[in-house]
Amino acid sequence: MIKLDVGWTFDNRYARLPERFFSRVLPTPVRAPELAVLNRSLAAELGLNEEALRSDAGVAVLAGNRIPDGAEPLAQAYAGHQFGYFTMLGDGRAVLIGEHVTPSGKRVDIQLKGSGRTPYSRGGDGRAALGPMLREYIVSEAMHALGIPTTRSLAVVTTGETIRRETELLGAVLTRVASSHLRVGTFQYAAQWGTKDELRALADYALERHFPRFEEAENRYLFLLEQVIARQAALIAQWQLVGFVHGVMNTDNMTISGETIDYGPCAFMDTYDLKTVFSSIDTEGRYAYGNQPYIGGWNLARLAESLLLLLDEDEEKAVALAQEALDQYPALYHRHWLDGMRAKLGLAEAQEGDGGLIADLLRLMEEHRADYTNTFRALTLGEYTGMALFDASEFREWHERWQTRLSQEAVSREEAYERMRRHNPAVIPRNHRVEEALAAAVNCGDYSVMDRFLEALADPYAYSPEQAEYAELPPLSDRPYRTFCGT
Ligand code: AMP
Ligand code: MG
Repeated sequence: MIKLDVGWTFDNRYARLPERFFSRVLPTPVRAPELAVLNRSLAAELGLNEEALRSDAGVAVLAGNRIPDGAEPLAQAYAGHQFGYFTMLGDGRAVLIGEHVTPSGKRVDIQLKGSGRTPYSRGGDGRAALGPMLREYIVSEAMHALGIPTTRSLAVVTTGETIRRETELLGAVLTRVASSHLRVGTFQYAAQWGTKDELRALADYALERHFPRFEEAENRYLFLLEQVIARQAALIAQWQLVGFVHGVMNTDNMTISGETIDYGPCAFMDTYDLKTVFSSIDTEGRYAYGNQPYIGGWNLARLAESLLLLLDEDEEKAVALAQEALDQYPALYHRHWLDGMRAKLGLAEAQEGDGGLIADLLRLMEEHRADYTNTFRALTLGEYTGMALFDASEFREWHERWQTRLSQEAVSREEAYERMRRHNPAVIPRNHRVEEALAAAVNCGDYSVMDRFLEALADPYAYSPEQAEYAELPPLSDRPYRTFCGT
């Protein structure tokens, strides 16, 4: 038998950071690994051989049973504010096997999630269940297809072992691909327990990895802060525009790269409501839909504090620089959000009254308990059926105002609707559809429901006939939807 080469090309730089930032640890082998899903297009993008990944040797790597040449497995150390409380965390059930360099020269982390205990596991078993790992796979890939920066999912393998949660569940390992796993919490960790040199080493690593233009900056650490602020402002605006509720915006779940990370209790909002919360443990609504932009700012302030020592020798000056950078965030966020909302309404130009036009639509959506995604889908298609909102006289007045506004655009009406199609998804991973796909896969080993769903999600702006059924709302009995953290 010819042994196929997967094509891993590791060049591990995080492992060269001071020892404080990680613990070398191997994934714990599992009994009977079996491939559940493999992401073919991502494998191709990464320059990996699909057939080799599917082979026993390939799956053994994805399960953590075999370490490929060039890998240097480690668990990353980090801290974080969880629901406002600061704690030491770290990869408690994940191992970074290495940094893979793709054929086009892009560097990505290859991380196994659910790979066993590490020095940071605290009381946990280091394992993950199949359902939540498939959930991360579906939603992260859907986010990617929506054009929203995110970590991605290369594969899920089942372990052949059960894990104990409320019941016994089948274990699984997810291979997560990220432009890095640096978090706000990684910097909090460095600031809290590291030396100034260690903090600087981490900041330099982040700059080289994500913001190579730092050489042009007068103050490279201020530049780092400003760039993360800019990326998070853009990211969170994109979440808001598609109605994505992350669910656990703890500082350890906020990246430096500006990618969405950690799909635990996340979900897409159905009915438009700023107070939307899905996570069963978020009883105060700290991470509610409408709160996400503010929490983003709060988390960035924690990053700024962590970088103070590097911003300036003079503490007062450092604080002033940090504050100045943080002060940019609300306006940056709002600009992205407003531009995005304009695009959702087919508007390419900016006019004074646009903010009011948008606010009035959102108010009407809230009053009539309209489905967020389907409202914009209907505006895009010009099909006004099946929603109470569309029967309201106030909506008809709003619609007329919008049409008048559209006629003031330089481009044709056709082009405006084209624009809307590119910004209003025809399909999102609605909770009841995600649950349906997971139930078939986990309870019956039937992956066809998930495959079909993934296909519909792969191009959410296609408006294909196959996507129509996924726009349907859950039966009322399924609401309110709750997600659970016991993953
Ligand atoms: P998360 O809520 O997934 O962001 O996880 C928060 C922290 O808990 C991280 O440090 C995780 O590594 C850790 N963690 C979550 N689940 C487990 C588990 N089953 N075993 C060990 N650590 C875990
Ligand atoms: Mg996390």
